[in-house]
Amino acid sequence: MSRQAVTVIGLGPMGQAMASALRRADHPVTVWNRTASKAAALVTEGAVLAATPAEAVAANELVILSLTDYAAMYPILEQAGAALAGRVIVNLSSDTPERTREGAAWVTARGARHLTGGVQVPPPQVATPGAATFYSGPEEVLDAHRSTLEVLTSVDFRGADPGLAALYYQLTIDLFWTTLVGYVHMLAVAAPHDISARYLLPYAAPALAGMPYFLEFYGERIDAGDHRGDVDRLSMAEASLDHVVHTTRAAGVDPTLPAAVLDLVRRGVAAGHGSDSISSLMTVFRRPAS
Ligand code: NDP
Repeated sequence: MSRQAVTVIGLGPMGQAMASALRRADHPVTVWNRTASKAAALVTEGAVLAATPAEAVAANELVILSLTDYAAMYPILEQAGAALAGRVIVNLSSDTPERTREGAAWVTARGARHLTGGVQVPPPQVATPGAATFYSGPEEVLDAHRSTLEVLTSVDFRGADPGLAALYYQLTIDLFWTTLVGYVHMLAVAAPHDISARYLLPYAAPALAGMPYFLEFYGERIDAGDHRGDVDRLSMAEASLDHVVHTTRAAGVDPTLPAAVLDLVRRGVAAGHGSDSISSLMTVFRRPAS
């Protein structure tokens, strides 16, 4: 049986990885990118470079977008004009839940169907085991194209609301960015001591590998509204973070990151949670500073 033909619009690192994975799986692929030169390698892999967005959209029912954000979609699809009607637009560009809902409504109003997607892996992990994408939108549309989309990653359907895939994406990327910036900060403090990232890896990696224990422990208690300080106390976190800020400053490194965390903890202590667990920061986060 011949494979479903697919259009991929947007050839940044992610779009290129996706178009290439589809080609390797023998799907006919049409591509378009604002900067046409980025299609060169894909054309050697057998992809067809469309001359215009209208040509790319008209080529296939299934159109995957991989753009910086949703704002980039409008000028491209506007150029597609009437070719848009009847298409399935799978927008794998990340953005806020609100903007993805607006984008889905815009596409739907032009006679096409829209799926929102939030890809959870970097480009080199596309089409590798364990790769997953959050999807939301009309489930029957997703089901109709599931086998093709599964060439890229596994499919995790979050619900009919088009904003849901973006919401789950934003929740996980929130954790990702704060964790990754924490790692870069750690390395910045280590560097003046001539301690390299390579040397620290055997210490940093187990610290993160141990995190699921804490996620489960605190997650269960937070769901239950249980912030008792039988294992850890916010006042202990305050003292510990103060040491981190001082160690950072002593290394000549900008202390903005741990100082911001210390500030949050101090607000929790000032609100009377000094004897409660770090989980009591939930109450600080949910009462933003005025
Ligand atoms: P890039 O920002 O590097 O590339 C995005 C593409 O969008 C490029 O092809 C670019 O065209 C195009 N583009 C941007 N603005 C416009 C515009 N106004 N008009 C026309 N085309 C435009 O992103 P990535 O490829 O890295 O990622 C794509 C999406 O996937 C993003 O939303 C990202 O958040 C998400 N994602 C990325 C991951 C990653 O690790 N890279 C991981 C998970 C999700 P041109 O080449 O002409 O500049």
